[in-house]
Amino acid sequence: MKTEQVDVLVIGAGPAGTVAASIIHQAGYKVKVVEKQKFPRFVIGESLLPRSMEALEEAGFIDAIKAKGFQQKFGAKFVKGDALCDFTFQEQYTPGWTWTWQVTRADFDKTLADTVESMGVPVSYETTVTGIRFNGSDSVTTVEDKDGHQSEIAARFIVDGSGYGRVIPKLFNLEKNSNLQPRKALFAHTVDTRRSMADEPNRITAVVHKPGVWIWIIPFATGVTSLGFVGDPEFFEQYPGTDEDKYRALLEAEPYTRERFRDVELVFEPRILQSWSATTDKFYGDGFVLTGNVTEFLDPIFSSGVTLACVSAQTAAKLVIRKLKGEAVDWEKEYMEPTMQGVNTFRSYVMAWYEGILDTIFFKKDADPVIKGQICSVLAGYVWDMSNPFVKNHDTALKRLARTIELTDKLKSSSAIE
Ligand code: FAD
Repeated sequence: MKTEQVDVLVIGAGPAGTVAASIIHQAGYKVKVVEKQKFPRFVIGESLLPRSMEALEEAGFIDAIKAKGFQQKFGAKFVKGDALCDFTFQEQYTPGWTWTWQVTRADFDKTLADTVESMGVPVSYETTVTGIRFNGSDSVTTVEDKDGHQSEIAARFIVDGSGYGRVIPKLFNLEKNSNLQPRKALFAHTVDTRRSMADEPNRITAVVHKPGVWIWIIPFATGVTSLGFVGDPEFFEQYPGTDEDKYRALLEAEPYTRERFRDVELVFEPRILQSWSATTDKFYGDGFVLTGNVTEFLDPIFSSGVTLACVSAQTAAKLVIRKLKGEAVDWEKEYMEPTMQGVNTFRSYVMAWYEGILDTIFFKKDADPVIKGQICSVLAGYVWDMSNPFVKNHDTALKRLARTIELTDKLKSSSAIE
């Protein structure tokens, strides 16, 4: 069997894989990417966060993405009935990027993969990893092309960026159940001719439809808008018929979407994704590191997936370079802990969203601008800024703030009665 020799094998050409491949390649190492699918390919995850821009910049991707003319994104809007909460990233507490993009991932991911290839990193499409043998930190990976031909890649290090494929956790039984409840999404791309009725295209809108059920509205520069419903799997069962029947009934059931999306043309039939939350015990091992969705994916509500993918890949790539140089790396302290810091901050916000705690905070009139800026930084993906109390105390600060708002409202209404 043919064996190719590289310094670093990267599994998957999504954002995690390409960011890692580019940064390691720029340090002068021989990198190869293997990707199971043919690009462009569909993947969900269309709304980015400003923090991802720092990783995309270090990977040398910004100019190529800019040239594609994707929709710029300046904030996030939350809607519940008549109540509205609009965050613009300009208001955020942490210094950093104040904008990003809303992208069709097929085009976005192909742009990243083409750019990394043009830098000199070979990307083998329709090539699936089927097995890995480790000998210390060295490894030999077996891959299979679309015609069933097998070959081997010997590497000094592996970066697993295989997303929902979860190659290394599956091959080595590292999978762990998530502590989040299973949820389901029903979504499509719509030809949004009545967009001007409601939303500015330059932000994501999240609509609270019912407790625990929400809608994402992500406009693209092309006039197409991604729209998806997320909720408990049982919630969708009350709607009869095909997935398209359910989707159109849901659009009709929500006042915010009813008129704008009535009889809307769909770019593809509504699709379903469910039970996406997954995690792994350890994000590293002798000769490998897990990045992006392979580490842990929580929930789509705060559009954190691509940002966590890019940032984990950025952090991992720098550590891989040090390891290849023969320097000591404390993977637990330098990789696992910061990665979990980001994941756990978002976990607190995801839980607070589904528990209704964020409804109390987001839809309070006359919000304190300092607190709003601090929460805005989290929504921009700046979840490593420990000077932000809503990052540092992510597990308690939201609950405390919601409780204070509720008590103040109660006091106000009782003094109004007196
Ligand atoms: P991926 O983008 O999945 O790339 C992994 C690549 O690895 C794939 O191309 C795959 O083909 C390849 N691969 C898999 N197995 C193998 C193998 N055996 N051999 C070789 N290659 C392999 N995130 C956001 O940031 N914003 C959003 O608005 C958002 N919305 C979402 C909505 C829903 C309903 C869901 C479920 C997720 C959403 N996400 C969102 C999350 C987002 O989809 C992921 O976090 C993101 O795509 C992760 O990037 P990645 O590079 O880790 O993996």
